[in-house]
Amino acid sequence: MKANQMFDLTGETGIVTGGASGIGLAMAEVIAEHGCAVTILDVNGEALDRETTRMRELGWTVDGAVVDVAQFDKLEAAIGDVAKKRGRLDVCFANAGLGGGAGMFTPEGGIETMSLEHYHRIVAINQHGAFATAKFAAQHMIPRKYGRIVLTASVAGLYVEGGSYSYGMSKAAVAHLVEPLARQLGPHNVLVNAIAPGPFITNIGNGYLHKNPESRRRFADIVPLNRMAETEEMKGLALLLASPASSYITGSVIMIDGGTSQMRLF
Ligand code: NAD
Repeated sequence: MKANQMFDLTGETGIVTGGASGIGLAMAEVIAEHGCAVTILDVNGEALDRETTRMRELGWTVDGAVVDVAQFDKLEAAIGDVAKKRGRLDVCFANAGLGGGAGMFTPEGGIETMSLEHYHRIVAINQHGAFATAKFAAQHMIPRKYGRIVLTASVAGLYVEGGSYSYGMSKAAVAHLVEPLARQLGPHNVLVNAIAPGPFITNIGNGYLHKNPESRRRFADIVPLNRMAETEEMKGLALLLASPASSYITGSVIMIDGGTSQMRLF
């Protein structure tokens, strides 16, 4: 097989949660561009309509549905609908996530004052939503003996930082999940990996990174490459993990962080 054929997804079906913006949008774009029929599940109906329309105009096969990954009955139904409509499910990016929340050294205060409501919401989306997405996707992949599940973790879940308690904990849980899933699903040829991004310029935190160059600068200062990443830079790794090219990669948490994790002061 030629190298470029290993990245060909023609005839395949994929799902990207949180795919109407940022990192998930880049994931959806790259698999659609390589022939995968993609369904984006996202809570933001406006962005979903705009992006799915734009992608269809490029000639790609793209659907969208408004789904909150923390609402399991709707999530299960939406994933089931995709598998039924296309007759298969090959690729699933469990990517939807929310940032923010109080941490050790954040301006909004520490654990003693942080909002438990916000804590619950972050864990419900980032941790429980990713788990449920993988579970419902696996149901359709196991019988066909093929699948690629890719979870979005974060370097914030691999190393303790001054940032949000709930965010770091939820992403640590996502990274942990990779190993048991990979072990259980490996014999079914369903491969499970996580991507752990460093700082990417996206709409996370209501778009503060786009509005605030000073915040981007502060992140750039902790990255050896001395800049934040553009979402385009997610596409190579996302395509690798979604495609036949990754046939012997499972159980990995792959950092894509410009070396951020090397800059830690111990
Ligand atoms: P983003 O805000 O640009 O995109 C997130 C998308 O998820 C949005 O379209 C949003 O509407 C959707 N979403 C939010 N809650 C949802 C829910 N309950 N159900 C379905 N969709 C939902 O942010 P992003 O930075 O692209 O974030 C994508 C993933 O990457 C998240 O899991 C985030 O934690 C992770 N991440 C981001 C960075 C970064 O620097 N941007 C770093 C590490 C990890």
